[in-house]
Amino acid sequence: MTAPSPLLTGLRCRCPQCGQGALFNGYLRFRDTCTACGADFKAADAGDGPAVFVILIVGAIVAPLLLVLQRLLPDVVALIITLVATVVLCIAFLPPFKAILFALQWKHKAREATHEDVE
Ligand SMILES: [Zn+2]
Repeated sequence: MTAPSPLLTGLRCRCPQCGQGALFNGYLRFRDTCTACGADFKAADAGDGPAVFVILIVGAIVAPLLLVLQRLLPDVVALIITLVATVVLCIAFLPPFKAILFALQWKHKAREATHEDVE
């Protein structure tokens, strides 16, 4: 069985091993194990990486949006629309980006370095 694509499983927020089971238990909390194949997610930790990517991408979307809206609408309205768009996009993008980074860690067997790795 070939491993599913980290990008596709991440976008669907599915297990990086089987591509079927749900990865999250709630909004951003990893399940302990995959519901389909039993893969162990207890050591799952994508760290701050997903937030960094989301900030960069959402910033690249909303900054030009604000500049355009300021020309078309009163400043306060443009600012409110941009702030709402920022919050909505961040909430929408964070789970798939977290799942993609975790799937890449899973595929490449990335983990925290230990003293045994150095010796
Ligand atoms: Zn699975």
